[in-house]
Parts: sequence; C-alpha cells; structure tokens
Amino acid sequence: MRRSFTFLLCPTAKQAAALAACLEEHRQLYNAALEHRRTAYRKAGVSIRYGDQSGELKHIRSGDPGGQARWSFSSQQATLRRLDKAFAAFFTRVRDSRTPGFPRFKGRGRFDTVTWPKDGDDCRWDSQPEHPTATYVRLQGVGHVRVHRHRPVKGRVKTISVKREGSRWYVILSCDEVPAQPLPATGAVAGIDLGVVSLVTTSDGGYIGNPRHLAASADRLAAAQRDLARKQRGSARRRKAAARVAALHATVRRQRLDHAHKMALALVRDYDVIVHEALRVANMARSASGTLERPGRGVAAKSGLNRSILDAGWGVFLAVLADKAESAGRELIAVNPADTSRTCAECGHVAKENRLIQAAFACTACGHAAHADVNAAVNIVRAGLALREAAQAA
Ligand SMILES: [Zn+2]
Repeated sequence: MRRSFTFLLCPTAKQAAALAACLEEHRQLYNAALEHRRTAYRKAGVSIRYGDQSGELKHIRSGDPGGQARWSFSSQQATLRRLDKAFAAFFTRVRDSRTPGFPRFKGRGRFDTVTWPKDGDDCRWDSQPEHPTATYVRLQGVGHVRVHRHRPVKGRVKTISVKREGSRWYVILSCDEVPAQPLPATGAVAGIDLGVVSLVTTSDGGYIGNPRHLAASADRLAAAQRDLARKQRGSARRRKAAARVAALHATVRRQRLDHAHKMALALVRDYDVIVHEALRVANMARSASGTLERPGRGVAAKSGLNRSILDAGWGVFLAVLADKAESAGRELIAVNPADTSRTCAECGHVAKENRLIQAAFACTACGHAAHADVNAAVNIVRAGLALREAAQAA
C-alpha cells in the first residue's frame, strides 16, 4: 500500500536560503523548458519531448556551475517530467475538445514543490540515524535539514518532496509497502452526504460539521482575496496583500486536512462499509453556485467565494477517507449523485418539490418528512448496497 507522510522542516537560516534558491532555480528550469517547447512548436511546428529536454540537462548544468549544477540531476528530471505531464493533460483536453488552456509559465509563488524521485538518489531520508532524538533529511545543495517528525514513518520511502507554504517548508514522503492495519468489523453500514453546513451527514442521522475555526479562516481568506483584488498591480501593497492571501491559503489547507483526517478516522472506526456520492468537478462547481435540488447547500447568505473555499474540502476529505478505508480494510463505494437529494427515502417518489426548503425534506407523495441531508444519505447508502449486490451477483 502507498501512503504519504508530511512533516514540518526546521531549516537553519542558511538552509532556508538554499531551499529558496533550489525552488527558484527549479522554477526557472520549468519555465525555460516550457519556453523551449513553445518556441519550437511556434517557429518550426516541432513537438519537443521529455527525452529531448532531459538529454539537454547535462549541457545546462555544465554551463551553469554556480546555479543549476548545484542541484540534483534527478530532481531536475522530475521537474521536466512535471512539465511533460502538463503537456500530456493539455493534449488530452484538446482531443476531448474541452477548453484546452496552454501550460502556463510559473510565476514566483506559483511553483512550490521540488521532488527527488528516489530516496538515496541525491537525497536521503533519516540521514543521521545515529542522532539520539532528532530526524534529518539530506537534500543535495541544502544539507541535512532537521525534520519535525511528529509521527512514525511506515513502509519504504520512495520519493521525497519539499514544499513551501507561506514561510514554512514541509517534507513529503511517499512510501511503498505500508502495512495495512485492519480494524475489527462493526457490522455497521453508512451512507454519507457531503455538504457545507455539515460537511458530512450520515444515513443514521449523525453530523460532522465544518469546524468553526475553518469557517472563520475561510471568511478571512475571502476578505483577503477581495482586498488583494483592489490593490494596484506591481505595488508594494499588492505584494503584501498577496503574501497574506498565500498565508491564509496555507492555514485553510492545513486546517482542512487536519479536520479531514479526524472525520475519516471516526467514520472508518464506526462503519465496515461507507457509501458516498462520486464527486465530479462539474458537480462541485454547480453545487457551489446552488441548484434547484440543492440551493447553495443552505449557505445562501454566505458569499460564493467563501462557500467555494469550504466546498473544496470534499475532494480532500474523500482522498483521505479512501486512504484510511484501504488501510483499515473497510469498503468504500461511490455512487452516482443524480437524484439522491430529491428522492423520497421512504417511498421512492422523485420530485424537486420534495425539497422546497433547503434543510427539510417533505415528500409530496407519501408525506415522509426528514432532515434533507439525512434523507439523501439514506438514498446514497441504498444505492451503494444495490451496486454492491449487483457486483456480487455478476
Ligand atoms: Zn415519499
């Protein structure tokens, strides 16, 4: 099983400067490689591939001994592969005739991660194992950086990434062969409905809300973004406002991830089978703006921006839940979200009139009344169990 572990880095001032330089020069490499591809395509109609660009790294390095040559060949290759992926995604969008959006240059602050693709290759996790209390990671050109390892790492470290979030640095380990830790069976099954007021509502009537501190941070972030939009381009005030937005983004991300872990843990402890709605980006965008079935998920008074910040938590939450379910040996089923919110869980009557008021479900056929999210969660668990039965019969 694969899992990732994220830890705060505690670099010295000198190491922090080296990390910033490392990130900046990887960003420049990315942009230069993008420029190369664009020019070749525009001027000669030639497509440059990853192999071509990787082959040129040697020359780039030998021509820049005090710059590019300081960093790992492998992390530079990983950066070029990242660009290659961006192009592959671009061509897929062109083929599917969706809005293509050409791969973009990464401005400062838009490039925050460097990856070393293999532990031991210009990087080493736990590089000073003889140290009695602290953990270190060695990164080429930076040195042995102290890690705030707040929990044990399991499995075999495959890749090591360093990420900047505001003024903090994190190391992310992607590990293979992480042993599963199955939990004892509970015999319980739940459907979950995802919303904003309560991020998760279970089919047996339980709620797990969006925590107040996350909503408060989302408010502050929305305000900071409005403030940024009013500042003049290129001004010092704008730079300051942008830094504040970035810092708040990092706070929201951290709080959201932390909350997602807690919620997912509670669910996998309690239920053997968990059914959720399959999320599609289009669905999420629609529910953020509100529809007849789900008019803004009960937060019509909130600004759209603030709401979309909270909504973005669903994807993160489901990813964490999938991870924990796999590790605990629980079954996770995704169902088509169509009609789950306007179908009566009692008699099966489908009508948008069943859901005239956001929070309440009242069936126009049989009179069944329930909390709307609970009614949806019941439909979700039912759809999931039907899917499962069909799969077992086949
Ligand atoms: Zn009914």
